Amino acid sequence: MNDPQPSAGAALDLDVLVIGAGIAGIYQLHKLRIEHPDLRVEVVDAAGGVGGTWYWNRYPGARFDSESYSYAYFFSKELRDDWRWKERFSGQPEIEEYLNHVVDRFELRPYITLGFRVQSATWDETSRSWSVRTADGQERRTRFLVTAVGLLSAPQFPIAPGREEFRGIAHHTALWPAGGVDFTGKRVAVIGTGSSGVQITGAIADEVASLTVFQRTPNWCTPLNNTPMGDEEYADISSRLDEIHATLMGSFAGFVHQFQPVSAFDVSPEDRHRLYEQLWEQPGFAKLLGNYMEVLFSPEINAEFSAFLAGKISGLVTDPAKADKLIPKDHGYGVKRPPFEAGYYAAFNKPNVDVVSLTDSPIERFTPTGLIAGGTEHEFDIIVYATGFDAITGAFDRIDIRAGEGQSLREYWEYGPHTFLGMQSPGYPNLFFIAGPHSTGGNVPRAIEGQVDFLTGLLTRAVSHGHERVEVTPQAEVAWTEHVLKGVEGTVVAVGKDWAFGGNTPGKKLAYRHYGGGIITYSTRCAEVVAGDYAEFDFA
Ligand code: NAP
Repeated sequence: MNDPQPSAGAALDLDVLVIGAGIAGIYQLHKLRIEHPDLRVEVVDAAGGVGGTWYWNRYPGARFDSESYSYAYFFSKELRDDWRWKERFSGQPEIEEYLNHVVDRFELRPYITLGFRVQSATWDETSRSWSVRTADGQERRTRFLVTAVGLLSAPQFPIAPGREEFRGIAHHTALWPAGGVDFTGKRVAVIGTGSSGVQITGAIADEVASLTVFQRTPNWCTPLNNTPMGDEEYADISSRLDEIHATLMGSFAGFVHQFQPVSAFDVSPEDRHRLYEQLWEQPGFAKLLGNYMEVLFSPEINAEFSAFLAGKISGLVTDPAKADKLIPKDHGYGVKRPPFEAGYYAAFNKPNVDVVSLTDSPIERFTPTGLIAGGTEHEFDIIVYATGFDAITGAFDRIDIRAGEGQSLREYWEYGPHTFLGMQSPGYPNLFFIAGPHSTGGNVPRAIEGQVDFLTGLLTRAVSHGHERVEVTPQAEVAWTEHVLKGVEGTVVAVGKDWAFGGNTPGKKLAYRHYGGGIITYSTRCAEVVAGDYAEFDFA
């Protein structure tokens, strides 16, 4: 902890408490340390180390699917110059090392408390402060509370009974043990075929005795096309990082890939197929974001590209019955956030790797030796739960957040979040969210960057005027929430199957919880608010 400095809220422990020491929390801490060294700031995190997503998700195969240099922080030229990413899409160990490097390089560690799992946060109007508590009785009283708890940080498990009866090794991909898991010669089940399940399947297929992938919904996976970063290419990228940063912040989703400048309908079907073939060979998200924009808006073009991908999958998986199971039938490309694969489809060409469709054979129960699905008993040494997250609002729902006698934030957002800019909800003064509901998806650190910069400006506005209370107006919240929901209408995503709608979590109310308007629209709106001297907020 930093030395307490006198401030208007001297009776409080802190001026700003940030929950979460991931990409967002680290940057928010650094920004406040630089711009407000007099403020008492602390970051708390339940984990035993910093890194958030990249601390918890240490399963084999976990890696970026944004280009490494585009995902990293841009705020310091010195940091950019002294870190050299090894791969186009670097793996979890290197990412965790990078985030620790950032924390040490900018001397942030003294302000971070680990092993601090927040259970409740309660607003006290009299002292204009939040009281933040853990289950084991630790407490902080803070003027401002910033959540940086992550979009995908509340892991969820299959609901079938008997999970605790399994006597083998079982881990969720997002709660992976630091010591790793030895898969050599083991009979392994992977449940779930999102990005995590696809990555781990490709990574372990060569080690296991057998691997059974339990698939509820097939996904449109395309090659990641990862490569080491050669010195010449890296030197070129390093020399252009300012320009690259401007491109990312001026793009739709913060990626280096740009949509085609022409409409799909203005080119011939042959030319479209030529582009699809080129995209297949390109790295990562080029397949989605370097495509025609109509892939996201036109059912016809979406179906055409999906058919192209189905052909590719059929070519990669030699057993036609397995290939048929692995090809999505109920949604087109981009309806769900697409995974990127390295050895995933090839794994199914091994005789000891199989896919079981949970639509045909649902998991009935877990047993001491494995599980029963569709009436068949399967025995395993290891079960991997790659079953994803109670997304976006899940991490908030696990904290009892209350302002006065009013309803909890969990209740307030039950039918979908209401926010202004994804950063505050009326009724919850001095509580701000980074990378929470209604914030831009895509290459998330770029969206985080804009939010942290905006929020730091808002806090500067408050403290420089001696204000102790900041609350967004209900009108601003209603307008932003309507804008968010309207923006997703008419896109292929609006089908609602993705975790952005909560469609992956049993019992969760279906509502769009992300922001699909893109980084430019979002940052333009932020700039308007700043130019209007934050008129959407009441200061007291
Ligand atoms: P996910 O995309 O939600 O996938 C979870 C998988 O588990 C899905 O196949 C889901 O089926 C299945 N599932 C969920 N509950 C189940 C149940 N009760 N029984 C059987 N199957 C069940 O989760 P994820 O793979 O962890 O990825 C989540 C997000 O994290 C990604 O979309 C991505 O944004 C991010 N991520 C990124 C990277 C990267 O950048 N490199 C890597 C991993 C994850 P349904 O599809 O039917 O729901």
